[in-house]
Amino acid sequence: MEPKTLQAAIVHFANPDNCHRFLTELRWPDGRVACPICGAEKLSYLANQRRWKCYGSHPKPQFSLKTGTLFEDSPLSLDKWLVALWLIVNCKNGISSCEMARHLGITQKSAWFMNHRLRMALHLGSFDKLTGEVEADETFICVIRPIMNGDSGRT
Ligand SMILES: [Zn+2]
Repeated sequence: MEPKTLQAAIVHFANPDNCHRFLTELRWPDGRVACPICGAEKLSYLANQRRWKCYGSHPKPQFSLKTGTLFEDSPLSLDKWLVALWLIVNCKNGISSCEMARHLGITQKSAWFMNHRLRMALHLGSFDKLTGEVEADETFICVIRPIMNGDSGRT
């Protein structure tokens, strides 16, 4: 990734144009933007909305950079996601969710979630949204929480 320091990364991704450019390259490395639903490349770009419109005859013909990615339904802004990604990619010894939370000014719970999602994406080599993964996460949290609270299996 382009910025060399965390401070530079925060400044870089605070600019929506930089987020946009980065994510476009990430999703469409060959520069050919395609509709995430039908794959058509015949699109018009609505610059003021930062959305594309597909001419295919299917529902939801408009899409943004986030459509179909793990960032789509997140209440966390894209700049935070991308700084989090920068931290993961650049901290060779790993970054804890506590450190990430401090750097990004978000809760540790949010940082843990981002960290988990981004590592999964890096592992899978794709930032596409995985349906079903949300359920798995929540199931996992439900399994872990009682253990952490020391009340597993005991009534
Ligand atoms: Zn389409």
